[in-house]
Amino acid sequence: MVCLCCDGEGDNFETKVQTFEQRFKGETIMVTGETQTCKKCGWFTLTVDQLNTVLQQTKREYAKRQLARLPVDLRRGQKG
Ligand SMILES: [Zn+2]
Repeated sequence: MVCLCCDGEGDNFETKVQTFEQRFKGETIMVTGETQTCKKCGWFTLTVDQLNTVLQQTKREYAKRQLARLPVDLRRGQKG
């Protein structure tokens, strides 16, 4: 794998758990999951499997937020 950030090649990448932001339907959601991280510069990318895991986490968190937000929106709608 080639690092797009520092152009490092070969076995520069290690599997590392990271917490990072995901954009989903206009929301910024923090997820924690395994990534392929460059040992030299810290840039990371995800394999297809890692991406799927993160996507599931993102969708779960998004659904949770929508539920949590619902009563607030209703209250706001009644204001004024
Ligand atoms: Zn790098």
